[in-house]
Amino acid sequence: MGVRDRYAPSPTGLQHIGGIRTALFNYLFARSRSGSFILRLEDTDRTRFEPQFVQNLYDTFDWLGIRWDEGPNAPGRFTPYIQSERTALYQQYANELVSKGQAYYCFCSAERIDQIRQEREAAHSSQTGYDRHCRTVSPEEAAKRAAAGEAHTIRLNIPLGETTKFSDYLLGDIEWKNDDVNPDPVLLKSDGFPTYHLANVVDDHLMEISHVLRAQEWLASTPLHVIMYRSFGWNPPEFCHLPMVMGQDGKKLSKRHGATSIDEFRKQGYLPEALINYVALLGASYEEGTELYNLKELERLFSLDKLNKAPAIFDYKKLDWFNGQYIRMKSDTELAELCLPYAIEAGLFEEEAHTEAHRTEGSRHEGDKKSKNPTAEQHEIFVAAMALVKERLVFLHEAPAKIAYLFSEPKLPAPEEFIPKKADVAGTIALLQLGKALTPALVEAHDDAAAETYIKEQAEKNTVKLGDLMMPLRVAITGSRVSPPLFGSLRLLGVDRSLQRIDRALELLEIAV
Ligand code: GLU
Ligand code: ZN
Repeated sequence: MGVRDRYAPSPTGLQHIGGIRTALFNYLFARSRSGSFILRLEDTDRTRFEPQFVQNLYDTFDWLGIRWDEGPNAPGRFTPYIQSERTALYQQYANELVSKGQAYYCFCSAERIDQIRQEREAAHSSQTGYDRHCRTVSPEEAAKRAAAGEAHTIRLNIPLGETTKFSDYLLGDIEWKNDDVNPDPVLLKSDGFPTYHLANVVDDHLMEISHVLRAQEWLASTPLHVIMYRSFGWNPPEFCHLPMVMGQDGKKLSKRHGATSIDEFRKQGYLPEALINYVALLGASYEEGTELYNLKELERLFSLDKLNKAPAIFDYKKLDWFNGQYIRMKSDTELAELCLPYAIEAGLFEEEAHTEAHRTEGSRHEGDKKSKNPTAEQHEIFVAAMALVKERLVFLHEAPAKIAYLFSEPKLPAPEEFIPKKADVAGTIALLQLGKALTPALVEAHDDAAAETYIKEQAEKNTVKLGDLMMPLRVAITGSRVSPPLFGSLRLLGVDRSLQRIDRALELLEIAV
């Protein structure tokens, strides 16, 4: 039988790093073995279910570009793939276990269960869970009480005095005394809904799941699941519990460490490629020499042998590095398309919006009314500007602030900012006037290399330092000492706008003399 594996989320929250790591590893494993990857919605916990979480699940995987072969919107042999639509099946299987004596009716009220818990707590007892009270009710009596309408759950009749063994791909052989397993857990609730354990085991069996790759926090449930497979007379799938994902402090990754929901990463301007690449390394190592892998390469490279036992540490800085790498791999047009929404939101294409764009660097503005789309001409400049900032971006949202000076007049800094080391205002004016004289030729220069050769020659000819010549010119054109490449900026602004800016700066400096 070929590999069949699944991602089986409970839609009780937003998709987060741990979840997509599980999904990705299952996806990659299935692909690497020409198998099938299945999505199954485990939505039986109706108290915590919210439709928005289902939508978030679909949106997230759409954005990541990860598709399933069978699932809610990809019908396969085992439709439906939504557990709340399969309740009759779980009831049928729970009843089958009852009739075989492998499960029994429990008539205990929620109050009674709670009372046991409280008594044990008061007595500092180490015992937890159910006290197996109804295990000794005879099947005949149980059937009679149930038929009379007495509310009941169905509990697993765990065979005591035995041990349950299974093998985990990463963790090796695991043995568990049945007496230490969660005592006779509920399989079917009194409202007819299954618990996670029942639905999960029944579906993994019916859907012919060959491998269960899931987070290590589920390991404690596995002995119970194996007991259930045996009770049904079924073969359990292969298990592989994936290493935990921790924050830098060695604690389980959580909101305390930073963004964890994929929505947040997406809003912050991470690229799906970067997230996939980084998440694929959480608990796995592929080959020496590189860490950059796209989804296609990962599909080819992945195998369970590549998994590590040790917990994975989530390093936000590393993810940022990947993001920068993937930004650099984009063409100018692609990158412009990705950055455009941020630019519109920052008001980049509004008149006099530059201060806004600068102010919002690093944090997007909620409720900002500015939302003007670029004109054709602005769009052309925007695309070309991508080449100037591509090497400097870590996040998409950083782009607007970095190139705002191309769309509206930059606010000029104080005169001191124009003045190179060891120069004074008068000297700076002279340098800027020389820069002004060279500007038309710099704008016309074919490319950066040509512009650079030209300005070097002119600096030499006028016996000024290249840096001293460039600095005031850069500040005049971009409004800052630190900016994207000057020559490219000049070419995008054109002769007239460049000269205007230089004149404005000269005025400012002349007042300061
Ligand atoms: N529904 C469980 C979850 O939310 C599935 C665990 C498993 O993969 O067995 O993760
Ligand atoms: Zn009971």
